[in-house]
Amino acid sequence: MKIAIIGAGIMGLSTAYYLSKSGIDVTVLEQKYLLYGASGRNSGGITPMIDREELIPFALESIKLYDRLPSELNFNFLMRKDGYVKLASNEGDADRLRQEVRMQNRLGVSSRVISPEEIKELVPDFNPDSAIAASYCRDSGVVFPWPVIWGLARGCRKNGAEIKTEAKVERIEKNGEKLSVYVNGGKYEFDIVVNSAGAWSNEISKMLGIELGNRIIKEEVCVTESVKPYIDPYIHDISSGVYVTQTARGEIIGGITGKETDTINTSSTIEFAVKYAKRVTQMIPKLKGLAMLRQWAGVYDESRDGLPVIGFTEVDGFIQANGLGKHKGMIVALSLGRELAKLIEKGENPVIKKFNPQRF
Ligand SMILES: Cc1cc2nc3c(=O)[nH]c(=O)nc-3n(C[C@H](O)[C@H](O)[C@H](O)COP(=O)(O)OP(=O)(O)OC[C@H]3O[C@@H](n4cnc5c(N)ncnc54)[C@H](O)[C@@H]3O)c2cc1C
Repeated sequence: MKIAIIGAGIMGLSTAYYLSKSGIDVTVLEQKYLLYGASGRNSGGITPMIDREELIPFALESIKLYDRLPSELNFNFLMRKDGYVKLASNEGDADRLRQEVRMQNRLGVSSRVISPEEIKELVPDFNPDSAIAASYCRDSGVVFPWPVIWGLARGCRKNGAEIKTEAKVERIEKNGEKLSVYVNGGKYEFDIVVNSAGAWSNEISKMLGIELGNRIIKEEVCVTESVKPYIDPYIHDISSGVYVTQTARGEIIGGITGKETDTINTSSTIEFAVKYAKRVTQMIPKLKGLAMLRQWAGVYDESRDGLPVIGFTEVDGFIQANGLGKHKGMIVALSLGRELAKLIEKGENPVIKKFNPQRF
């Protein structure tokens, strides 16, 4: 069985890693370079404290994989597990946080409601007047996304998979039992093609006449100069969308959860920088005056119901593996990739049936 995976983001590479580990012939096709997509541009927040209960088991499994994979791949993900705090600054969002914590606890997540004053114990420079409620989970943290991608790519190659960069899929055709994939003027035949092209997944689906209908989300982020470590957890204000943490290298990294856009566009805006700086310095006044060194943006996709789209389609051999959703892809993709590899190997996998593309 020959498999093509379109897109060398975390979803494509985790699927390729587990398939190639089972000895399956896999080729990953990436239009540009490793890290070009959202998987190379995100802020690396990792927590099982997410708002969709269908995804929590996958987040919990992924956290175990984040613990295990660095030694399996012999690659340090620079993960710092210093917890994750969610904040709310209005009553509606405060209620939402409390409800989320009840749901998360039911599913085995060790999150709890904390007072804004308790955040000061975790981050002494936090301003407790900037929030009215908060939740916290210790078993969470932040990874540096680049080594996650490099490590998975190295694991794939070690298992015999091929990763082709500067290999943009231009056309796909159903050709009898096979799928013909056109790249850089060449035509290649595969038994199975996996669409893990993130924000570009709609375009790939259209090549086979499928209207996927995922929303494209643009998210902006920035880093400051490096300073002495003083922010341990990842802090995420669900009311404004603003999030902030400190990298292992001392930079303050933060952004605002993304907004839907019509076209793929990764330009940076001054509006983002102003809104972010205003809110983040209310939360942590000590950040005032720090120099912003770099600002960038990335795009990812979210399905029509906010859950991933994973599984076989009406075109025999063509599989969707996209729509990972808002600000969660790095959290869930490792275990989803492992489950998708099982689906491909066995022809079925009840664990991910709820994400079947044919549900729409
Ligand atoms: C600024 C920002 C911050 C974020 N923060 C977090 C966070 O803290 N925690 C979290 O869990 N998630 C976060 N996310 C979301 C997360 O990054 C994404 O959900 C995840 O990386 C998506 O992975 P993917 O593999 O589906 O897509 P991608 O990583 O985008 O990979 C898709 C790949 O497909 C390639 N491709 C597209 N078209 C073609 C073609 N025709 N031929 C060949 N290749 C093609 C692209 O070049 C791309 O490399 C953030 C995202 C952004 C942008």
